[in-house]
Amino acid sequence: MSLENLPPLRHSLDAYGLLAKKAFGQHFLLDLNITRKIARLAGPLDGETVIEVGPGPGGLTRALLEAGAKVVAVEKDPRFLPLLEDLATASGGALTLVEADALWADEAVLAGGRGHIVSNLPYNVGTLLLIKWLTGPWRPASMTLMFQKEVADRIAAATGTEAYGRLSVIAQAVCEAKVVMDLPPRAFIPPPKVSSAVVRLDPMPNALDPALLAALERVTAAAFGQRRKMLRSSLKVLGGEALCASAEIDAEARAETVDVAGFLRLAAALP
Ligand code: SAM
Repeated sequence: MSLENLPPLRHSLDAYGLLAKKAFGQHFLLDLNITRKIARLAGPLDGETVIEVGPGPGGLTRALLEAGAKVVAVEKDPRFLPLLEDLATASGGALTLVEADALWADEAVLAGGRGHIVSNLPYNVGTLLLIKWLTGPWRPASMTLMFQKEVADRIAAATGTEAYGRLSVIAQAVCEAKVVMDLPPRAFIPPPKVSSAVVRLDPMPNALDPALLAALERVTAAAFGQRRKMLRSSLKVLGGEALCASAEIDAEARAETVDVAGFLRLAAALP
């Protein structure tokens, strides 16, 4: 069977008697028009390697394969593997299935070199996975990821906004980040309680020095841990006023008014 002749996703779920499990954060996209749009937003993917976390019934996987990607799909729930094996056969070798917890997977080994990450993420571990990909040793060529809308907005938030915080600074120090698609709960089976959004993240041409990134994690944890306080107070244990002076940052400012470049200067100035 080829990709075009596969049965509708809902039929595949019924044929294998599969129901969504809350513990695995399962909310499925069964409309191929939506998954194809996500694949386009992640593209161009022809001939590219894509790591997909949580293929589930394989709707996004199908769209990625149709776009010409070589897909390495990492699924924690073994119930989906027989259904996904049908897709792997139809893909003629373009789909590799890995039963694993993505939190512990080694992306360099999975991709075997350059690769993108595209996923409708399980919301319970979405932020943890993003931090792993932003700060880990393997640099993705791009990431196109579905989150709860509120998390997506925090990732891409502009300086000075309510949503701007630690996640915004770390994501935007490493990548250009943009919300590229919004989806209402009814787009998923079963519908989640909240809306969702896709974020596209494109890493900056030059990787951040790992020591600077570690310092950025420390300084943003302290600054946003007490976001209503002035930096001279929230950053006291890291050097307070002297640290702000050496980074040319107003010590009376609050964390949410300092842009990413400012936080990078603070991180670089840490003793
Ligand atoms: N990609 C499918 C879709 O769009 O219909 C399913 C998305 S569903 C939101 C999240 C998927 O991630 C589920 O298939 C779930 O079993 C899987 N999953 C949950 N936690 C995981 C983990 N730690 N590692 C790998 N897969 C995981």
